[in-house]
Amino acid sequence: MRPIQARISAGAMAHNLRVARRLAGAARVFAVVKANAYGHGLSRARRALAAADGFAVLTLEEAANLRQMGVEQPILLLEGIFGPDEIATCAELDLWPVLHYAAHLDWLQQQPPPRPIQVFLKFDSGMHRLGLPLAEHAATVARVKSLPGVAGITLMTHFAQADEAAGVDWQLQPFLRELAGHGLPWSSANSAALLRYPDTRGAWVRPGLMLYGASPFADVTAAELGLRPAMTLQSEIIGVQTLQAGEGVGYGQLFRADRTMRVGVVACGYADGYPRHALTGTPVQVGGHTSRTLGRVSMDMLCVDLSECPEAGVGSPVVLWGEGLPVDAVATAAGTSSYELLCALAARVPVEEVD
Ligand SMILES: *Cc1c(COP(=O)(O)O)cnc(C)c1O
Repeated sequence: MRPIQARISAGAMAHNLRVARRLAGAARVFAVVKANAYGHGLSRARRALAAADGFAVLTLEEAANLRQMGVEQPILLLEGIFGPDEIATCAELDLWPVLHYAAHLDWLQQQPPPRPIQVFLKFDSGMHRLGLPLAEHAATVARVKSLPGVAGITLMTHFAQADEAAGVDWQLQPFLRELAGHGLPWSSANSAALLRYPDTRGAWVRPGLMLYGASPFADVTAAELGLRPAMTLQSEIIGVQTLQAGEGVGYGQLFRADRTMRVGVVACGYADGYPRHALTGTPVQVGGHTSRTLGRVSMDMLCVDLSECPEAGVGSPVVLWGEGLPVDAVATAAGTSSYELLCALAARVPVEEVD
């Protein structure tokens, strides 16, 4: 069997949820499990994260799957509903849609659910992606309050720079100032906000990335945040080459040896989810030593430097990211984020679930 495998740790996810819960204080915790639980598997994540107060997903299909798996906690639909026909399903399965666009209010008015539903009313506090205009909050909240199909309202917003130096205050303060008068529960925190800004907690927090053991911050590691990596992508060396000075390796011959050196060929490529943009020098673990990738990543293979790993050969274990090598370090070297790497784990990679 091809030796690549993703080991996914239920214990790490449960641990990271406990970290989130401690930070959340009195707030309730939605475990964000969109995108197949950031590549970790929806069903696996919901078992590992069973202690969450609720789950947050994108689509009705994901939500229905969770209900079928026996989830009884609230389920939040982060992107809302995509048509008026979805309102009845929200009532039937007790799903809480995010209402972020004026048409959603019209749909609710025109096709009220068979029984009233909980809604999250999302305001745009500056990210300018989804959300109703904050300036119109008074009329909007009054209108939603008057809808017979609405059982309860939680006010919501989302931060654009919670992971950066600019922080959250430029969005949080206007949001709280404008909406305080309504006396309604609210929700604003993603992982970065929950980890750094206790003021963002409100009634519900919405951590995603941190549950999987990655850091949202460029300058703080997941380990420093007390998080454990949930996914370890590992494989083995399946070939060894000795390059002479001046010889290149791989497509485009992007890496050329300046001396005689051993190169290991690893059974992992971009079709497995490893980033093709990872340049020479991306960290990789070979037999417990940190080494580096060489040249261009191919579809099914990549090359690693064995200069400092004299014992390594065909069959030596390789960790691409996870236990012993933070996914964030690989993401940085590849010019992307750990979000993208985790979500991109390919379906062809066999998963083994571990404690
Ligand atoms: C994805 C998402 C989250 C979770 O964000 P993380 O940065 O992964 O913690 C929270 N809220 C909304 C609206 C989201 O779309």
